[in-house]
Amino acid sequence: MPKQNQSIAKHFANLVAYAVDKLGLNHYDAIYAHNRLLAEFKLTEPEVADKKLPDFQTGIIDKIVDYAVENGLADPKAKLLFETKVIGLVMPAPSVVMAEFDAIAANQGIEAATDYLNALSVNSNYIRTPDIKKNIKWTASCPNGDLTITINLSKPEKSNEQVALERSMPATNYPKCMLCVENLGFEGSYKHPARETIRIIPMYLNDEPWFMQYSPYVYFDNHCIAVSERHQPMSITPMTFTRLLDFVELFPHYFMGSNADLPIVGGSILAHEHYQGGKKVLPMFGRPNRKSFSHPDYPTVNVAILDWYNSVIKLSGTVRKDIEALAQNILASWRKYTDTSVGVIAETSAPHNTITPIACKEGDEYALYLILRNNRTNETHPYGIYHPTEDMHNIKKEGIGLIEAMGTFILPGRLASEITGIVDILTGKTALNFAELSDEKNPLSKHLGMIAQLVNDNGTANSSDDAEKIVVNYINNTCVRILECTAVFKNTEIGQKAFENFLATLGIKA
Ligand SMILES: [Zn+2]
Repeated sequence: MPKQNQSIAKHFANLVAYAVDKLGLNHYDAIYAHNRLLAEFKLTEPEVADKKLPDFQTGIIDKIVDYAVENGLADPKAKLLFETKVIGLVMPAPSVVMAEFDAIAANQGIEAATDYLNALSVNSNYIRTPDIKKNIKWTASCPNGDLTITINLSKPEKSNEQVALERSMPATNYPKCMLCVENLGFEGSYKHPARETIRIIPMYLNDEPWFMQYSPYVYFDNHCIAVSERHQPMSITPMTFTRLLDFVELFPHYFMGSNADLPIVGGSILAHEHYQGGKKVLPMFGRPNRKSFSHPDYPTVNVAILDWYNSVIKLSGTVRKDIEALAQNILASWRKYTDTSVGVIAETSAPHNTITPIACKEGDEYALYLILRNNRTNETHPYGIYHPTEDMHNIKKEGIGLIEAMGTFILPGRLASEITGIVDILTGKTALNFAELSDEKNPLSKHLGMIAQLVNDNGTANSSDDAEKIVVNYINNTCVRILECTAVFKNTEIGQKAFENFLATLGIKA
């Protein structure tokens, strides 16, 4: 048993005071939580909090975790799990957060309520802002629509030791996945994040129990997730549109979109039905219509092909049921639509056509953006015909999900150091050596084609500013090309004609 240590008791007092101030912990719950902390650490006497609280992370949390590790109370290999557990002890209970959210929504509006939950997520370290700030982020100005590009440094690459620890864990089936409602309060393990500090807001979408939570990774402003209470696979059905529109009725300041339900064109978690949303800051939202259309049976609905890199049908109008009905028709037709002249084949041994749908409110109007997708592969394109070709895999190889399809690219953290390596070659700081670069152990080997092209075009005597611009431009252009790859109807005369032919089969005419 560790000796009673006045300084650790002081840190706990400060933690509880912080929780009252920043996490909305009730006065009585604070006394209760304080006693729980003392018991957990086998302390007998509390301390009084400092009048001016020290920095939450460095002055309170880190001190508690260090103390726990030094005294054998926490696993030094799992400090984050322990930190989350300690903060979880001073969090208001999930039901208290739900009630507070509802009260704020009733009195001050839904936006104030989401601000509350978002602030709680940040103040409780559920969203780790200092980590998010490590991300390198820029806007790629492109004539056909700007893109947002982020190199994701907030998720550190796993060390070999971590990988070994994960492997050493016995296989478990609880919670079934990272999104299951049973994550609420889950202590986590080497291979599953701790979730004592997550708080969720239950709601009904299409009369089914769902809940909303923030994404701890914050790929864009107020990045949130709508999750089904049932662990059921992703599927795009007529009900998807109903759920998405139900969500934006509840949260009109957010968009909500679903990843497609097929591999390659879908998201990373296909096993659990969930949607992603947040503030309408993704580049696709700012785009004008390329061409407008209408349908005689749905005169209230504005139909348009959006002026965007991939194939987007935008439906908008004030009559929700008409938009929903037309979207359902489009989905049913697209699922079985084949046009071999542009390579679109609905089905081989498996179905290939699907939709990435996104809903939002635009003033009084409802809007549904339907991105047409196809995941067919062939011998020339084993990774997908409408997927980035292999010469772009050094930048992005994974499936292009809804966030990227809308113009917000999340690129792997490894790129940060690799860009520096390429810049060093373009400035002559590192001698160009193709034999070394071809060695698979060299992290730059995957960029061989890119380096050869950049050196050919720009030489190796650039200033470091210029070299950096050259590399960033290359990445920007690659992201544009990636999006163009995902277009089932290319932005060419032939492609757009084929797009209109598809719309015509639905009775949608210019
Ligand atoms: Zn699940």
